[in-house]
Amino acid sequence: MNYELGIIGAGPAGYAAAIYAERAGVKTIVFDKGMGGGLAAISPNIENYPGFESISGFELVEKMKVHASKYAEIKFGEEVTDIVKKENIFTIKTSKTKYPVKAVLLCTGTEYRKLDVSGEKEFSGRGVSYCATCDGFFFKGKNVAVVGGGNAALIEAIYLKQIGCSQVHIIHRRDQFRAEKAYENEAKDKGVIFHFNKIVDKINGNQKVENLDLKDTKTDKESKLEIDGVFVSIGEIPQNDLAKKLGVKLDDKGFILIDKEGRTNVKGVYAAGDITGGLRQVVTACAEGAIAALAATESVGKKYPY
Ligand code: NAP
Repeated sequence: MNYELGIIGAGPAGYAAAIYAERAGVKTIVFDKGMGGGLAAISPNIENYPGFESISGFELVEKMKVHASKYAEIKFGEEVTDIVKKENIFTIKTSKTKYPVKAVLLCTGTEYRKLDVSGEKEFSGRGVSYCATCDGFFFKGKNVAVVGGGNAALIEAIYLKQIGCSQVHIIHRRDQFRAEKAYENEAKDKGVIFHFNKIVDKINGNQKVENLDLKDTKTDKESKLEIDGVFVSIGEIPQNDLAKKLGVKLDDKGFILIDKEGRTNVKGVYAAGDITGGLRQVVTACAEGAIAALAATESVGKKYPY
């Protein structure tokens, strides 16, 4: 057996866990189906990770990647398709091969929630986007809408205004935002246009998105909003397929239940980061990764000096 701990997901939680586990002498391998970084990688700007007053999500996770790579082997572009437990050994099956390990740490994060309205799939990549950092540039000088009322939606709207989108609209289904007041104030100051009590009924266009059908949630009144692009920012859903295959217990929203040391109900299986729900911040993901790595260290028969 070449590795003792297998970490699934190379976002902030996975990177932090890899650093802590390897430093404790645990042979660790990390898998990521993409290039790593998780959703933090596409956050336009992070201003609440201590030590960095303002840094793009991409830059921050790239620094983490370089740091973690000094310690652990990281397999980018290698998707874990299944994990099978037999006695006390886990076999991690990937798109390329199999790896036996003694413990598994799930840092699989979340993915974007979809609106599930007509036109969303059809115009995906042709005006419908889930990431302002990735696609905002194409809408410079154009009119765009952001759907959602959380921190992410407000941050995206501010960013879109900042890079030179002409009109930026926010469409939110309630009469107040879930986001922190500071983001709401900044968006207002930058001229973002708020549409409260509105839902998107349909996304229309020909080759590309041209307008949205909106419905007022209080009056049912219908209206149209002419835009060139729509950024869907309505939260995330946990990527829990591997957890389910392992028989790991989830909460009612599909997030993995852990104890305060990152243990799941399945012996030898740990979880950390956004997949465990809660605050879902880079700083908490890193902290959970470190804590779970220490518990995993003990489970492979090694000691941590605390
Ligand atoms: P979120 O806080 O869960 O907000 C999702 C928003 O989308 C809510 O306003 C929700 O409306 C709305 N929504 C959900 N389903 C919808 C639907 N089907 N149609 C229309 N609207 C819908 O998600 P988030 O903004 O992506 O943030 C996720 C987590 O990351 C949070 O914990 C957040 O604090 C954190 N985050 C933090 C920062 C930061 O601190 N810098 C930045 C980004 C994200 P309701 O309000 O009506 O439920």
